[in-house]
Amino acid sequence: MHVETLAVRVGRTIDPCTRAVAPTIVLSTTFERAEDGSYPSGFTYARSDNPTRRALEQALAALEGGAVAAAFSSGNAATAAILSALQTGDHVVLPEETYHGTRLVATQVLARWGLHVSFADFSDPSAVQRAIQPNTRLVWVETPSNPTLRVTDIARVAEIAHAAGALCACDNTFATPALQQPLKLGADLVMHSTTKYIGGHSDVLGGVVVGREDSAFFQRVRDYQALGGASPSAFDCWLLLRSLPTLPLRIRAQSESAMRVAEFLASHPVVAKVHYPGLPRHPGHAVACRQMRGGFGGVVSFEVHGGAPAAMAVAAAVRVFTRATSLGCVESLIEHRASIPDAPPGIPPGLLRLSIGLEHPDDLIADLAQALSVL
Ligand SMILES: *Cc1c(COP(=O)(O)O)cnc(C)c1O
Repeated sequence: MHVETLAVRVGRTIDPCTRAVAPTIVLSTTFERAEDGSYPSGFTYARSDNPTRRALEQALAALEGGAVAAAFSSGNAATAAILSALQTGDHVVLPEETYHGTRLVATQVLARWGLHVSFADFSDPSAVQRAIQPNTRLVWVETPSNPTLRVTDIARVAEIAHAAGALCACDNTFATPALQQPLKLGADLVMHSTTKYIGGHSDVLGGVVVGREDSAFFQRVRDYQALGGASPSAFDCWLLLRSLPTLPLRIRAQSESAMRVAEFLASHPVVAKVHYPGLPRHPGHAVACRQMRGGFGGVVSFEVHGGAPAAMAVAAAVRVFTRATSLGCVESLIEHRASIPDAPPGIPPGLLRLSIGLEHPDDLIADLAQALSVL
């Protein structure tokens, strides 16, 4: 079945007692035992499993084409679950341009427990190959990446990982399963910050790990979910289930508008550089065309001549865009990445990141045109 159908149909079963069509929220933390001590519903206690979370997990596994999923209370908790399923002394290769929170979980939390971490430029598969060590057990892909939208060839990197006896995990937050399905390209695990496109409305924090199969490794992710305790609330799971049916439509509309915004920016005289994989001269365009379908995502970054002061002046002048961090929501956002608290090194000072929402693209382009005119 197609993602549009799965997004509407999986995890949204008719309630057998009330015949309610919309999913119900089960807030109960505990579940009744039968006279013989058994658990007739299969549920015991909400940290281990609860019906609303299970429905969300089934839906997300189906959308990614996976067998299993584990939902978490944030994207970073999902990342921590995957990295914690490794052993002391194992080595993981991360992209140079990885989500900052992913880098910090690996280098500041798990490195203290003996995880070895190194970085490579994932837009070049041979650089990933060179980063492999005898104890490499995980290769972490993030594509398109944040904030310069570098593209990784998922199939190629998964092959490199498997040849080394390592797993390949892919952070699919920017693409969503509606545009890219890493498990079908050879990845073993998919991770999302569901805070972004999957939630889509700037009102819920969450994360998920989807596994291609119910492996021993995935069982450790599940154990971390139940024991580490970063469980999403039933209400948060319900909000995410509420968002799923519109995900394919939202990301496609956002991708179409992002393409138009990128083309506008690419032809503007004060713009020095545009980062968007949909543009034919983006270095990852050919790979993105092979592994994404239906669009290139809703995030566009660009650099203005004049560095940080010029970029800040543009961000200050917008009237439709909102100046805020995050991405994937219905409202368009603009952010000067180099000036965020604890900014990772290497962000070009004149870079602005846009998350394109669901406003009319003509209004977004007119807003950027008037904001760029201050320069
Ligand atoms: C936001 C984000 C995360 C972290 O997710 P949280 O929900 O903020 O914990 C991880 N990866 C990417 C690509 C993200 O954009």
